[in-house]
Amino acid sequence: LTSNRKELPEYLLFLDNTVYCQIGIGLGVLVREYAGLSQLDKQYFGFPGEILMRMLKLVILPLIISSMITGVAALDSEVSGKIGLCAVIYYFSTTIIAVILGIILVTTIKPGVSQSADNIDRAGTTPNVTTVDTLLDLVRNMFPENLVQACFQQVKEFSSFVKCNLTKEYTIVGAYSDGINVLGIIVFCVAFGLVIGKMGERGRILLEFFDALNEATMRLVQIIMCYMPVGILFLIAAKIIEVDDWDIFRKMGLYMVTVLSGLAIHAVVFLPLIYFIFVRKNPYTFALGMAQALVTALMISSSSATLPVTFRCAEENNRVDKRITRFVLPVGATINMDGTALYEAVAAIFIAQLNGLDLDAGQIVTISITATVASIGAAGVPNAGLVTMVIVLTAVGLPASDVTLIVAVDWLIDRFRTMINVLGDAFGAGIVQKLSKRELERMDLTSDVDVANP
Ligand code: ASP
Repeated sequence: LTSNRKELPEYLLFLDNTVYCQIGIGLGVLVREYAGLSQLDKQYFGFPGEILMRMLKLVILPLIISSMITGVAALDSEVSGKIGLCAVIYYFSTTIIAVILGIILVTTIKPGVSQSADNIDRAGTTPNVTTVDTLLDLVRNMFPENLVQACFQQVKEFSSFVKCNLTKEYTIVGAYSDGINVLGIIVFCVAFGLVIGKMGERGRILLEFFDALNEATMRLVQIIMCYMPVGILFLIAAKIIEVDDWDIFRKMGLYMVTVLSGLAIHAVVFLPLIYFIFVRKNPYTFALGMAQALVTALMISSSSATLPVTFRCAEENNRVDKRITRFVLPVGATINMDGTALYEAVAAIFIAQLNGLDLDAGQIVTISITATVASIGAAGVPNAGLVTMVIVLTAVGLPASDVTLIVAVDWLIDRFRTMINVLGDAFGAGIVQKLSKRELERMDLTSDVDVANP
């Protein structure tokens, strides 16, 4: 299979990756049952998967910088304004749809009504984040004081992060992704790209530089993709070995069914329907083209780290114009998180049900609004949504510490919601391309050399 990867159509690559997933699960179960690994051995076992994560994270920065700058500079301000507006309307409306869907499901299925909060173990520390903190951090992050520092920023203030006991690492609220202030960099690149675009001949040299950087980065991504099967296999196997409480899934079964069915309905019904309404093409063929990115998201729980694969799938398999992907995908991976928003709404109401609380209509509306804000504020890194969930809980007067009720199953749910986040970004790129078709064609006619699509 591996030697013929290049000739295979994308959906077969998807099968190829799911085969490696299954082998990983099998290997994980076997090693768990029979090998009796020590904590240190488990770390060694997860090493090949860790390397995949590191390689993907490594290319995030050059990819975002080169794609955003060339993406914006290659468009005139009228076109980029229209693309930006379409993207923001799409992000916002699909997120609201996801939240409403989540609320309908959780109030119908009522996963928390039959049990009480005391039946589920509380784990870990109490995070402390408020809506105002998150909003202020979000805006603050848009304007980094120092560009170099924004690439590996260490957060100093407590309001900016909480220690997430499950991941044993700092998950940062706002637009950070593994220490990179993605939102700040995006804002800078948009401004820089607009200026370069207006500089005419003198700006061209910079534009060509960033364009070449983008191409080189994408070639690196291609090389990383060859290592993907090995990385995926070990990532999943190591996770299976590591989890020590499988019984929690039985206890939390109905809650998980509610979140996962919401995510499935959003992915299979709503997003495809919206895509079809605007683009009039088969949405499932489009989704299959994104398969490799979706499997990657499922394995690594991070939309930001999946970004290199998302780019490749959208451009190469689904033929989305680079002028669109360069603009829409990095922003989407940072602020468009339908899966996270749906999960936040379901989890908050589930926790209310566990506490025997009856939420009124006003509180449900508050949950919808704060779940949307919390999903925008969550970084594209593992478990970020769990942390920003505190905003939703505190907004309706639930104890913030109750977020620990759902910590134990978050590693699994996170994978699925990340997948939906990535799918939402990809469909968004397809829709924005369709809506901006006329402007892009007009640009093709007026420009003699197309730097974005050489
Ligand atoms: N892991 C998700 C993502 O990267 C964010 C979340 O925790 O919901 O998209």
